[in-house]
Amino acid sequence: MTVRVRFAPSPTGNLHIGTLRTALFNWLLAKHTNGVVAIRIEDTDLARSDAAYEENIFEGLRWLGLGMDEGPLEGGAFGPYRQSERNATGLYAQYGDRLLSMGQAYRCFCTDQDLDQERQAADHRKQPYVYSGKCKGLSDHEVRSKVDQGIPYTIKFSVPTGGDIHLSDIIRGDIVFDRQLIGDFVLIKSDGMPSYNFAVVVDDGLMNVTHVVRGEDHISNTPKQIMLFECLGFSTPQFAHLPMILGPDKSKLSKRHGATSVTDYKAQGILSDALFNYLVLLGWSSPDGQELLNRDEIISRFSLDRVSKSGAVFDIKKLKWMNGQYIRRLDSEVLQRHVMPFLPQSMQHGLSELGADRQRAAIYSIRDNLDFLTDAPEFLDVYVMGDAEFKLGVESSGITTSDLPTISQFLGCVETDTVFTSTSIDSALGSIILNSGLNKGKVFKPIRIAVSGKTSGPHLAEVIAILGKSVVIERLRWVLSRQSINGGM
Ligand code: GLU
Repeated sequence: MTVRVRFAPSPTGNLHIGTLRTALFNWLLAKHTNGVVAIRIEDTDLARSDAAYEENIFEGLRWLGLGMDEGPLEGGAFGPYRQSERNATGLYAQYGDRLLSMGQAYRCFCTDQDLDQERQAADHRKQPYVYSGKCKGLSDHEVRSKVDQGIPYTIKFSVPTGGDIHLSDIIRGDIVFDRQLIGDFVLIKSDGMPSYNFAVVVDDGLMNVTHVVRGEDHISNTPKQIMLFECLGFSTPQFAHLPMILGPDKSKLSKRHGATSVTDYKAQGILSDALFNYLVLLGWSSPDGQELLNRDEIISRFSLDRVSKSGAVFDIKKLKWMNGQYIRRLDSEVLQRHVMPFLPQSMQHGLSELGADRQRAAIYSIRDNLDFLTDAPEFLDVYVMGDAEFKLGVESSGITTSDLPTISQFLGCVETDTVFTSTSIDSALGSIILNSGLNKGKVFKPIRIAVSGKTSGPHLAEVIAILGKSVVIERLRWVLSRQSINGGM
């Protein structure tokens, strides 16, 4: 049997990192099993749904590389794939009518106030609230007359009596729900729109969904859905409820923990491959315990039975580390393509003046300095800084007279270096360390300051090679001459 899964976001906000994780796990299950993954837009909440959010969801999926097999843009045999469009065909009303005629549903004319009163009374009695079902007792005549009077109504599901409801969740194991505690619930709202629980079952049923993979916050909906699958004669899919994503304080991840929308992570300069790898570890682990895995490795190892029950902490430090690992693996051309959009115009212009090869080498030289692509301007500044900025940097650097012999020795090496590549510069730096008996920091730091005006930065030998022999000689001489004029710094 072909695995058919669906990702069913509600376009009521920008794509949330947790929602993207749900999309990813569905996608992975489909890819691992050669199955099918559909995207279904659950936009029945007309007041909160927005086409801009829908576009943001599509964009996030595209960015992460989660191509869908079926959906509003992709098409497919089970469309339409937007619930608003499905509703417009009268689909949900038709299933509502079917349950009405089966006696499994009834029209409920209770107002919000009526229901509030019932709820308050239950609170007062310290009992869980369950709808009294009083409209279930209305006669056909009463119902007809209320409908004729134009009194608004919902269509409610009449929860069948009987034993408990059993859910055998792939991740959470067996869960038993007490039917008594599930009151009759709304299938069609008074505005004619289907409720979430109803639309989801009609759609999962008609779309032949075999596995429902979604957040654990939907567990309490699942017994209602199981009853509906059974009453409508659909085969009930298997369920897998993913653990919640938590903030560092172990409460549900929310805005107060920082960025939650995928757009924000993209804007911070997270690579999509890194986020893909990071997100899969939020709840899943590889059988061999390996954490850095590429897409194909993840697809081949993925299975729902390695998804954990307990909440997964979103650890930005780990994401940052992982992103750095992915950045360091990029070749210079790809790195350049990723970095450029994160640079201000003036820096792009300054770098382009270095010529294509040096520009690429400059960007490549900062690979080890980056956690986020947004860190790039800070480290590339060394290649575009003006003379005044360089001199100011040297003056405030804390370079001392004891550093000058090192700088002078290095000047000697540079002057006689005929190839002037990062390799020749590296060996010059190495020989200064060897001859002086100083440690690496004591040699690198003053030289870095003397060529760049900065105390830290990208690979020193690469910086020096990219700056070019004449600039470097000019700067080293300036630093040394300044010392002889001022007698100290
Ligand atoms: N539209 C629901 C949500 O965004 C989907 C839940 C489900 O997958 O059934 O939470």
